[in-house]
Amino acid sequence: MLYLHIEPDQQQWLDAFAHHQPDLKVVTAEDDFAADQVRWVAAWNPSEGLFARFPNLEAVFALGAGVDAFVRRDDLSSEVPLIRLLDAGMADQMVEYILWATLTVQRDFDLYADLQRQNKWQEHTARSRDQMRLGILGLGALGQQVAKSLTTYGYPVSGWKRSEIELEGVKVFTGDQGLQQLVQQSDVLISLLPNTPQTRGLLDAKLLGKLPKGAALVNVARGVQVVDDDLLKLLDNDHLRFAALDVFHEEPLPTDHPFWQHPKVAVTPHMAAATLPEPAVKQVVANLKKLEAGQEPEGLVKAESGY
Ligand code: NDP
Repeated sequence: MLYLHIEPDQQQWLDAFAHHQPDLKVVTAEDDFAADQVRWVAAWNPSEGLFARFPNLEAVFALGAGVDAFVRRDDLSSEVPLIRLLDAGMADQMVEYILWATLTVQRDFDLYADLQRQNKWQEHTARSRDQMRLGILGLGALGQQVAKSLTTYGYPVSGWKRSEIELEGVKVFTGDQGLQQLVQQSDVLISLLPNTPQTRGLLDAKLLGKLPKGAALVNVARGVQVVDDDLLKLLDNDHLRFAALDVFHEEPLPTDHPFWQHPKVAVTPHMAAATLPEPAVKQVVANLKKLEAGQEPEGLVKAESGY
């Protein structure tokens, strides 16, 4: 038996399970069932104490890419395998979001919106794609797909990760020195890093101040990676041109937060890449089969790294 904890659109998820594995018994909070019969939980935004209800839990499926809400919890032992989604339709959405933010500065759409509000007809010199260097922090399941895709549009793309890899057409940096080098040569800096103790507060005045003047920041990872006051100062003193922010320290973003009304900030409500029920459930079901066959599932979270 699998317990499903997700909202909204719970019915779409139930339909997807019925489609991909009709013989799997899936229950939700609305059903009557014996908690000791639950072997797996598939969840997003798990409420406090959720996992403690199930004494015979064999695995947990995070219905998203980020697992910060699932690790280091009192109600979930690190002995229970935690499995997350790999891409599952999210990389394409990330590409779309990053293209929107990149084009906003490359083609000056932010400036034109401002000019329109002033009834002003004034053309700016446009930049070509090869003049927009994109730096991606985090080249994992999403970052790698995003990097590959953006190179096909003709953007020079660099990325930063912990371990070395070869990625065709992408300059890969590692380590602290690599981070500094990448930042110094990024016209658009994009975070696709997980939320870990090492990435929290990483995007501070010291690091963002190393971006070339007029650069933009796109944060589609987690809000805690940005020091908000530092970012605001760099936007206000014109070192940075624009920030597209999809994630925040507190969500929903408090109504009195300065990001809402800042002329150089675009706020979106954590929608850069939504989890799509069909591809997500397909992955969960494939992993359930692997677990039943005694094989290692895809997307198993490593307890030591926490992502
Ligand atoms: P992965 O775990 O697959 O990739 C994470 C990448 O970050 C890896 O390349 C990893 O390096 C790198 N990394 C982690 N820690 C460090 C560090 N300390 N220094 C340098 N590199 C580091 O994650 P995904 O690509 O699947 O997802 C990325 C994040 O995107 C998620 O954690 C989530 O927070 C966010 N997200 C946001 C969404 C939204 O709608 N806004 C939707 C989906 C995800 P290495 O490979 O060497 O280990």
